[in-house]
Amino acid sequence: MESRKSAPAAHSTDELRDELALANRILVDHGILDAFGHVSARNPDDPETFLLSRNLAPGLVTAEDIQVISFDGTAHDDRPSYLERFLHAEIYRRREDVHAIAHSHSASIVPFSVSETPLRAVWHMAGFLGTAVPVFEIRDSVGSGSDLLVRDSDLGRDLASALGDQAVVLMRGHGFAVVGDSLPQVVARAVYSDLNARAQAAAMQLGGFTPLTEKEGIAAAESNNGQLRRAWEVWKQRSTT
Ligand code: MN
Repeated sequence: MESRKSAPAAHSTDELRDELALANRILVDHGILDAFGHVSARNPDDPETFLLSRNLAPGLVTAEDIQVISFDGTAHDDRPSYLERFLHAEIYRRREDVHAIAHSHSASIVPFSVSETPLRAVWHMAGFLGTAVPVFEIRDSVGSGSDLLVRDSDLGRDLASALGDQAVVLMRGHGFAVVGDSLPQVVARAVYSDLNARAQAAAMQLGGFTPLTEKEGIAAAESNNGQLRRAWEVWKQRSTT
């Protein structure tokens, strides 16, 4: 019988480093990451730390580039880290259910972070978006003169608070953060968040749109969680050939 678990489990930190490097490549292939953005995984050997590439374009990340980082933002080696590592740290600290996080500057998502129109699940592949995707307004934390980056623990905490118990939080004028219980789940959620945003924008060009109900979203997300391995395997093959 097929497991309802969303993804193949990584068995060791070394395997997770390989999986994380692969997640970077897959998200680059899908246009979710480019020179910027990042993806991380909670460290199975020490759940109060997480794995994240050193400061490097996602398309170049290999297993050797992965750092271990504590929740206070301290890297466990001397290589430079991503400025926005605090975003990951504070979400892992707040959400024990989260084992993987991606942060992207997707141009498809940004319009929904700066307009009055909320991002909604309009497609069964994005049922995890639910009925209300929250927007993090950094001005509420630091006023109207910041560079919009989540560059310290205080901002990370405010972002994690805005995420609440949702799967996705938009970041006004910046991008979005998405969480999952595994790298395959967070990669799929990042890809389908982006595609749902494009589908919703296209529907709005045609006129109105019909979002999923709360129950439809939950049911669709449950069904898709049982099929994530199919997407992960084909994306993995494309990204390694
Ligand atoms: Mn960013």
